[in-house]
Amino acid sequence: MPHPPIPRRRFIARGLAGTGIALLAPQVRAVGTTPRFESDPFSLGVASGYPTSDGMVLWTRLAPQPLAPNGGMPPHDVEVAWDVAHDVNFKNIAARGIARAEFAWHHSVHVEPRGLAPDRPYFYRFRVGAATSTVGRTWTAPAPGASLARLRLALASCQHYEQGFFAAYRHMVADDPQLILHVGDYIYESGTKKSPVRKHPGDECFTLEEYRLRYSAYRSDPDLQAAHAACPWMLTHDDHEVDNDYADDRGERIEPRETFLARRAAAYRAYYEHLPLPSTARPRGPDMQLYTERRFGDLLTLMMLDERQYRSHQVCPTPGKNGGARVYEEDCPEMNNPARTMLGVPQERWTDARLAATRAHWNFLAQGVTFTRSNEATDGRHRYWTDAWAGYPAARDRLLHDIVARRVANPVVLSGDIHAFIVADLPRDPADQSSPIAVSELVTTSITSPGPPDFVVAAYQRMKPQVWYADGDHRGYIRLELTRSELSADLVAVDDARRADSGAKVLARFAIEAGKPGLRPL
Ligand code: FE
Ligand code: CA
Repeated sequence: MPHPPIPRRRFIARGLAGTGIALLAPQVRAVGTTPRFESDPFSLGVASGYPTSDGMVLWTRLAPQPLAPNGGMPPHDVEVAWDVAHDVNFKNIAARGIARAEFAWHHSVHVEPRGLAPDRPYFYRFRVGAATSTVGRTWTAPAPGASLARLRLALASCQHYEQGFFAAYRHMVADDPQLILHVGDYIYESGTKKSPVRKHPGDECFTLEEYRLRYSAYRSDPDLQAAHAACPWMLTHDDHEVDNDYADDRGERIEPRETFLARRAAAYRAYYEHLPLPSTARPRGPDMQLYTERRFGDLLTLMMLDERQYRSHQVCPTPGKNGGARVYEEDCPEMNNPARTMLGVPQERWTDARLAATRAHWNFLAQGVTFTRSNEATDGRHRYWTDAWAGYPAARDRLLHDIVARRVANPVVLSGDIHAFIVADLPRDPADQSSPIAVSELVTTSITSPGPPDFVVAAYQRMKPQVWYADGDHRGYIRLELTRSELSADLVAVDDARRADSGAKVLARFAIEAGKPGLRPL
């Protein structure tokens, strides 16, 4: 699809600020006192997400002083104008309107224009008073079932702000992806004790104000802003958007359920406030329906799954805490309890129904944690990291079974979380490596977060022939190119995630031929 470039500039002219002259229609008024912005109210940039065939989500947040209380905004709602155009100069307007930046939602703006033409590029911007935001570039998906020849995507996860710069996003933007998928650890709730590369305010987040401030720091990063302005995103969360290794209503610490759910509500609210999420994902208290599907013509059905909010509690945890652990299956029969769930029963049913309904050439299931189950023991027994699918074997078997039973065309699981690249084919029968391949998995490494201990990567490297590649030494992302006949995946590594100006290189390339299950190295 056509994908014209946008000028590389961060802000467009705001020279009329304070002059009382507003030349742009429609007029925008503040719902309370008219705010006078001493600095750019669009300092956190713009974003789009979740394209459909007639619209998408457009996002911004008014924050003239992102790290000040309330982002430097007055404590009332403010109206913001939005424009969607066919051209970067906004001569040919496709849709426009007024949205309300609510004080209760931290002056975030989520607009979902409808009625746009399918399979088209669009440009968008926001205006308040005399200030105009930077221009974002987005597009509409082709009509359901319409022919789509190719799609370029990027897969990202795990971007600890204090442990590096977002050079990976600069390289990702240069690849010109049409869609960026983020599969979790968009923020980290914790700070870095040991030699941080850069500092954000605060340490571990617990309150709404603390989570809001954390997102404000992350979203101030220019490379992350550029990636959000470049194309639409789709996202799912993992643990660190709330608390390390949390499971449903239990955090890592042993504490009252209500205490953790109040924290989860604060974290989910701040997550929504800072990302281009659809209204269906707007949280209600501690609940947020993040799992959803988007279809890209006849080429791709993309399911974003939530493996965190509904999962069974961590099995056989270390005494005195609730988080994940490295557990011998032989010592923990509960691990194989068929009642244990990763997605929760309603989402399992939803996923199976979507798998049954899809007619796309390719079918991606994007979610947070590694689906390949690696035995970390070398003593003949079976030791698993319980926070990943490895700790939920019955739920994993059910999803594998559904993918096979529904005869899903060219299924691929996209994952993150472990700060390593893992490229694997998964047999239908986990106990029989010679059984036919059911699904392939591409796990992206972290954008910045440090890699895992060597024994974690070694456990994957021992899984031959099912695991093609396992590398925990590099930070980066996966670049995906999809056509009717082939999916190619480039594992892109930055040279040094501690440098904003880092170079990048392709570490390895793999492909899947449509209709022929299994990866092959390129
Ligand atoms: Fe992570
Ligand atoms: Ca994680």
